[in-house]
Amino acid sequence: MHTFTFIFIFMVIATTGMQLWLSLRQAKYVSDHRSSVPDEFADKITLEEHQKAADYTKTKGISGRIELLIGTVILFLWTLGGGLEWLDGLWREANWRPLATGVAVLLSFTLISSLIDIPSSLYNTFVIEEKFGFNKTTLKTFFVDMIKGTLLSLVIGIPLILLILWLMESAGDLWWLYAWAALTVFSILMMWAYPKFIAPIFNKFKPLEEGEVLDRLTSLLKRTGFNSDGVFIMDGSKRSSHGNAYFTGFGKTKRIVFFDTLLKHLSPMQVEAVLAHELGHFKRKHVLKGMIASITMTFIGFAVLAWLMKQDWFYTALGIQHASTYMALILFMLISPAFTFFIGPMMARWSRKHEFEADEFAAQQSDAGELISALVSLYKKNAGTLTPDPLYSAFYDSHPPASIRIAHLKSVG
Ligand SMILES: [Zn+2]
Repeated sequence: MHTFTFIFIFMVIATTGMQLWLSLRQAKYVSDHRSSVPDEFADKITLEEHQKAADYTKTKGISGRIELLIGTVILFLWTLGGGLEWLDGLWREANWRPLATGVAVLLSFTLISSLIDIPSSLYNTFVIEEKFGFNKTTLKTFFVDMIKGTLLSLVIGIPLILLILWLMESAGDLWWLYAWAALTVFSILMMWAYPKFIAPIFNKFKPLEEGEVLDRLTSLLKRTGFNSDGVFIMDGSKRSSHGNAYFTGFGKTKRIVFFDTLLKHLSPMQVEAVLAHELGHFKRKHVLKGMIASITMTFIGFAVLAWLMKQDWFYTALGIQHASTYMALILFMLISPAFTFFIGPMMARWSRKHEFEADEFAAQQSDAGELISALVSLYKKNAGTLTPDPLYSAFYDSHPPASIRIAHLKSVG
């Protein structure tokens, strides 16, 4: 066996094992704390609501562990099991030009992978979300979304794949620098195009109507000196009763989007506090820092890929007989999660630091007490657990656990 085959198997098993262990810890911790509401929430959340959150967390954990195991088996089937070698052979027989073969292999690989994901996606939406009363989507919307999403990724993906494969084949040793630059320009373009052209394909957006909420938000935007394209409501209730708020775009085209499901459950003051938190992410440059981090990681990724694709063992050790640029790209995408797993907890920690900073901004510009009550209300509505396992949370959570976040808000507010 090639040394790299051994390293690959070891890394996949180690990271899968680690994820399983963390997930089981989370399940146990949530179960152990299921019988009573934590003291600090006792007057705001009922025992019934607390137990619903525990059951929801545990149910999602079980399906997550099954998906993880299936995903690991599929990864081995694609690589050492000869799946990619078989797919490559099929298209090679057609004797097309290398660039066309590359696009065909990449597209069929992506198509098969998305087909494999359909059952678990159906189960999560129509069994788990349905059982806990969150699902609002229909089978029709589900499949229409899927068709739209597939067409969209073909329209956007094919030119991008062609460009990158062409650079890999024809641009010489520095191809990866050009590819990195192209991908960076592309992602900035997408940030601009997403709110304008892509999001409206899936949802309806309408400007927030006149009233107390709009007055409060307008005055908050004015006093924090924030330029935007406006505040919009999105019909999130078409698919799910989970609520959310987010920003898209950049410069003057920035859009503030509230899910209708979120606005329904919060008072005008609470909505203002939530927006102040979101503005905090912008004002403290979290969005810019996130972009720089992702551009840097793409740079490192391409540099590593450029080196790996020249090594014969990279293909043979992973079950591929014919080295090719497109196969290097697919192998790299498939195996890198096993090698970059350790980055996850660092990114999560960084994100939690940003949440604290955005909360501080909200406490200064709006009202910490209103943000706390909005948070409690969202935990209740979304059945988020108040008692995550500390290690699980440190590993995965982009937001601090409710009790820690609220304690911090009280101290700054
Ligand atoms: Zn945030």
